[in-house]
Amino acid sequence: MLTVTEALARLMAAPKPALPSEEVALSAALGRVLAQDRHAVMDVPPAANSAMDGYAFCFDDVISGSQAGARGKPLLISQRIAAGHSPKPLQKGTAARIFTGAEIPAGADTVAMQEDCDANAEQIRIRELPERGSNVRPRGQDVAVGQCLLQTGQRLRAQDLGLLAAQGLVKVQVYRRLKVALLSTGDELVEPGQPLGPGQIYNSNRYTMMGLLQGWGFAVFDLGIAPDQPERIRSLLIQAADQADVIISSGGVSVGEEDHVKSIVEQLGSLDLWRIAIKPGKPFASGTVAGKPFLGLPGNPVSVFVTLLIIARPFLLACQGMNTGPSAVSKVKALFDKAGSNREDYLRVRQTQAGVELFASQSSGVLTSASMSDGLVRQPIGEDIRHGDTVDFISYSSLS
Ligand code: AMP
Ligand code: MG
Repeated sequence: MLTVTEALARLMAAPKPALPSEEVALSAALGRVLAQDRHAVMDVPPAANSAMDGYAFCFDDVISGSQAGARGKPLLISQRIAAGHSPKPLQKGTAARIFTGAEIPAGADTVAMQEDCDANAEQIRIRELPERGSNVRPRGQDVAVGQCLLQTGQRLRAQDLGLLAAQGLVKVQVYRRLKVALLSTGDELVEPGQPLGPGQIYNSNRYTMMGLLQGWGFAVFDLGIAPDQPERIRSLLIQAADQADVIISSGGVSVGEEDHVKSIVEQLGSLDLWRIAIKPGKPFASGTVAGKPFLGLPGNPVSVFVTLLIIARPFLLACQGMNTGPSAVSKVKALFDKAGSNREDYLRVRQTQAGVELFASQSSGVLTSASMSDGLVRQPIGEDIRHGDTVDFISYSSLS
């Protein structure tokens, strides 16, 4: 058996498609993966501005004592500057009424909060002299021109789009969405919406897989159920390789199983059947169809879910051009006992204030364990978990 780490390393070493990039509107770029480093083209803020509603003045004027407006003495209000309006240079020995976000006039370097001033329409007296430079956001405080803002391979989040918008950009160069073809194998499968005959079950894997893949930002080409007819499977796989960058199937990769997908993938490309020391999971196929990467996931609904999250996800994100690190693992307190096994176990758990609770059934066919849980506790091979132990937790939201 391969350890999870070995399987991940092998998969990551497999050839990946070279994705072209495309320019998209910033408004459509959420979740897309950046195909170029972005450097700042301008300072943000572009000019020094006030962090407060108050009065802008020249600190030296006020402390010199010889000028009008020395500490405690009144300063004439020589202009009013609202956000979005251009100021005039400050007349020496005066103050400017200023509002949050308004540009600091040349000649001023400090803003007194209005709460710290006594003011009438013509003049102010600063009661609490702030430190030099107070309440001023200097030019370039946030971003300096030339600074690297975002790097190739970053997936764009809302705050990243905001950062690009603050540069005045309307478009961004991203990788084309990874096209993933999906195939559900099994003669017992029926699509939801159809009547269920004897011995049949609904194709749930299709929706679990589509949901995860779409959530990761891929373009999914669903080829439906592959019936147990070699010619049909062959034409579906050829179609998949023609349309998509990566092909994923579920089911039919167990050892010794009578299954046409395996033999046809071998005819059209290559196939490695792996036994991964992962639970749920274990059987996993990796190969190529007409030069396109092929991943054969196990059929059991929870095995599909866990192997797609833990084994396939890092490879697929790398195919999308994303810089990926290891899964985000946090430490939590186990509120259960569980004996270790000869495979790395990914236990479905619920998060509570006190720690994580184990879902009652951990069977690979019990999809409620995945739906009614918040994440996975990783249980290393051969290690028992005792109530109160600190364990590794991977939340589903960290895998989105
Ligand atoms: P297999 O790996 O093909 O032997 O399938 C293992 C188990 O998963 C069997 O009980 C299958 O009926 C079930 N299974 C396979 N594919 C699906 C699917 N698409 N949806 C739901 N269950 C499935
Ligand atoms: Mg099957």
